[in-house]
Amino acid sequence: MRRTFSRQCPHCTRQVTWPETPTYPFCSERCRLIDLGLWANGEYRIPGEALAEEERWPEADVSEAENEEVC
Ligand SMILES: [Zn+2]
Repeated sequence: MRRTFSRQCPHCTRQVTWPETPTYPFCSERCRLIDLGLWANGEYRIPGEALAEEERWPEADVSEAENEEVC
């Protein structure tokens, strides 16, 4: 006997069924990515994640360090 699940998409509240929808509980890949984007924007804060994000940004410091090596 095959079990199915049904609930509303967290983003657009459209009815989503599983396993018919692989992206369950989201109605589509787009809604899933939008929800993940909220995490990246800090809508939901995860302790420890912020430090990992900041390490991607200081590209200016990297170029300065390369100049010092040349001298
Ligand atoms: Zn949706």
